[in-house]
Amino acid sequence: MGTIAFVGLGVMGWPMARHLASAGHQLRLFNRSAEKAHLFAAAYGGTPCATVAEAAKGADALITCVGNDDDVRQVTIGPDGGFQSLADGALFIDHSTVSAHLARSLAQSHPRIGCVDAPVSGGQAGAESGQLAIMCGGTEAAVLAATPILQAYGRRIVRIGEAGHGQLAKMANQIAIAGVVQGLAEALHFAAKAGVDPDALIDAIGQGAAQSWQMDNRARTMVEGKFDFGFAVDLMRKDLGLVLAEARANGASLPVAALVDQFYADVQKMGGGRNDTSSLIRRLA
Ligand code: NAP
Repeated sequence: MGTIAFVGLGVMGWPMARHLASAGHQLRLFNRSAEKAHLFAAAYGGTPCATVAEAAKGADALITCVGNDDDVRQVTIGPDGGFQSLADGALFIDHSTVSAHLARSLAQSHPRIGCVDAPVSGGQAGAESGQLAIMCGGTEAAVLAATPILQAYGRRIVRIGEAGHGQLAKMANQIAIAGVVQGLAEALHFAAKAGVDPDALIDAIGQGAAQSWQMDNRARTMVEGKFDFGFAVDLMRKDLGLVLAEARANGASLPVAALVDQFYADVQKMGGGRNDTSSLIRRLA
């Protein structure tokens, strides 16, 4: 087991770091609001550090799970960032959902570091249970070296391709989810307008060609108007922003994802930014 600098002890990062501590890694901790690092250390061990640079010094790997592109830039190449002190050959594993451009440019400008963009799917529940799906971009050697670390909280760890390809895979994941959730919301809305019993409907079509993870896990709660089940609309809009920017650059045509992004903007205007993504049905009521 090695020494890991872990940055970003939020909804996702806290349980990931907890799994790393249980696996026997020595953790050097940094979080923007310092009290989280101290609380974590008191509960699970590890050393709170004053800066990311201090945390990364002597570490075998720097792992980040922060918010957006600016946060990742700050904790890596910012004034007190980790890259200045990370040893040659050490790993940088980023679990934040950010642009593929940033992942590529960090890897290209720091070839002495084994950079792996490793966004995750599975939400808070997946992080807590150590059952995340992890989409990796980076050299084969870097992803191979990162894999034993990622196994502490990853159920499925797949190298998609070179740097940036983990983020591109996460974008494809969000495109697929956006369309499925809107389709499910429309099916349930239509059934309600037509006077069809929703329980009988879900029982019947949930086993057929319309079956999906969203159908299995969200259809009944959507009917009940319950939208407190993890991945929030605000985060989905951030992700769809990354998707649409990437599509503008690569020429992909994403009419449904663009439309659903606007529907999520409607949900935000209705005060639902912290609702989970199944809340698309709210604007059809
Ligand atoms: P979160 O709860 O807001 O946690 C982010 C953590 O990073 C916070 O503890 C925050 O510190 C810290 N942080 C942010 N910027 C920082 C900086 N510049 N320097 C140091 N620490 C910083 O967010 P999350 O839900 O864990 O999400 C983290 C990433 O995973 C995001 O990119 C998100 O899109 C992605 N993701 C989330 C989910 C999900 O279900 N939540 C699922 C898949 C992927 P403070 O305590 O100061 O805020």
